[in-house]
Amino acid sequence: MKRSLNDYRKIVGDDVVGDIYKKARKLYGKTIVHVNSTYYGGGVAEILSALVPLMNDVGIAAGWRMLRGTPDFFDITKKFHNALQGNSINLTEMKKRLYVQANEDFSTYCHISHDCVIIHDPQPLPLIQFYSRKQPWVWRIHIDLSKPNEELYRYLKGFILKYDTLIISSEDYRLKDLPVEQRIIHPAIDPLSAKNMDLPDKVVAKYLKKFNIPTDKPIITQISRFDRFKDQEGLIDVFRMVKEQIDCRLILCGSSALDDPESQQCYERTKRKANNFIKDRDVILITSENNILVNALQRRSDVIIQKSLREGFGLTVTEALLKEKPVVASKVGGISLQITDGETGFLVDPENKEGFAKKIVEILKNPSLAKSLGQKAGKVAKEKFLITRLLGDYLDLLQDLLA
Ligand code: UDP
Repeated sequence: MKRSLNDYRKIVGDDVVGDIYKKARKLYGKTIVHVNSTYYGGGVAEILSALVPLMNDVGIAAGWRMLRGTPDFFDITKKFHNALQGNSINLTEMKKRLYVQANEDFSTYCHISHDCVIIHDPQPLPLIQFYSRKQPWVWRIHIDLSKPNEELYRYLKGFILKYDTLIISSEDYRLKDLPVEQRIIHPAIDPLSAKNMDLPDKVVAKYLKKFNIPTDKPIITQISRFDRFKDQEGLIDVFRMVKEQIDCRLILCGSSALDDPESQQCYERTKRKANNFIKDRDVILITSENNILVNALQRRSDVIIQKSLREGFGLTVTEALLKEKPVVASKVGGISLQITDGETGFLVDPENKEGFAKKIVEILKNPSLAKSLGQKAGKVAKEKFLITRLLGDYLDLLQDLLA
């Protein structure tokens, strides 16, 4: 069913909704287009699915286009993604050529005459080269840019410089020596989506049963694409330590995104590592893409983990906070913006597996601690990280660019 801004009044109140309508008034009829490269899997698709309909609902003609690439192209852009988050890269002329070529090909049938263009992440970054400019272009980069690979940054800068504005998720990601405006906008989640809406216990139980997840032991869960930066393998070591102290079960739920060619390998490595646990059904790997299952798992779990090595923001953390769950997560990137250690969850150095295990055990042994962390977390998520706030931020941006 189509949602409208009005539906959010019961969650955020009339003032917030009224304020958004007011901001939108000056933008009626403006056309904007978002471009990314996947419609499911991962945070960007998640945000656009909620944001684009709401933009339309408040009177902006917002579209969403998806850059089509070949497997080669996605191999390269995944390497770019990893290198922007600090990995090394062998940046050959061939890679550069394929990267730009896919963008040029797409531009021949993606006609853009909108009042503003918003490009998400590195895949469609070079598109800007193939249009005669009539409007502002924004590059919205969702990943952790605190230590970008220098060589790649130098190369990509050739495209970035053409943009009017960059949106980053944290002050720590501000790119150096870049004479382009950089704005910080925190991502957000949709409290009314299938993934976050309230679910009756009956439905939660039904979904766990449907996916064959026993509930006879405490459940700890990480929801993440299978990706080396999400460190599912490291989490198996943590689980081993927890299990020595408390009998419990680990669920790793992760679909793969269309634009991520590495996820199958990561899944296989995790599976091999957890082999014995999997036989005993103490570790369960799930690869189905199912929003209600994710919702049910987050609600039924006793602890939510996010053991990322890098994290642009970490919507999975936001989703757990909103559901008032105790979260133990890595002290990296955007996660540190969301959790106050010891208040609204626990932050642990990602290399410190013992530290992770200790905090998980502490929560499992202390239900009142779990409850108090969760309640405070829910309040913060509602105040700061809902889609209505993000919509307002985008309206401010458009106002500045188009006024
Ligand atoms: N997600 C999902 N199913 C999965 C794995 C992830 O629906 O099997 C969703 C998750 O709930 C969240 C998004 O994908 O909404 C991941 O966003 P996040 O910012 O945590 O990480 P990213 O994948 O963008 O690095």
